[in-house]
Amino acid sequence: MARAYPAKNIYIDIEGVILTRGGLPAAHLEQFLKYILSNYRVFWLTTRCSGDIKYTLEYLGKFVPAEIIPLLSKIRPTRFSIDKTEAINFGDEFYWLDDEIFASEKNVLDKHNKYDSWIEIDLMKNPNQLAHLIHNKLYYS
Ligand SMILES: [Mg+2]
Repeated sequence: MARAYPAKNIYIDIEGVILTRGGLPAAHLEQFLKYILSNYRVFWLTTRCSGDIKYTLEYLGKFVPAEIIPLLSKIRPTRFSIDKTEAINFGDEFYWLDDEIFASEKNVLDKHNKYDSWIEIDLMKNPNQLAHLIHNKLYYS
């Protein structure tokens, strides 16, 4: 039986989140994507997507194994011009996974009282962070 459609949105960055800063796929990437795609609505929030995932997938195809691409193709596009927060729907609950956000973006989160929605990813410090998240903060019960 299908579970109730989850209310929560997830926005994800690429460099430093899906890919390490060295351009390798993050550890546990396939498991992570399967989990969040089954439990959340997932959106890109990256300069590598400007309203069209074709370019995003072409880019990622240079770094990730082919079997990951069908999962990545389920992530929905967004568009913003300067700050990523332009593309966030503040009317819905969300998490935003990013390794680095601008001071202006922090201010917008603060203004909406959503600073805690930002999950700071640091794969250098914690290479297993994606697996940790789906068993903890992103665990959907
Ligand atoms: Mg990044």
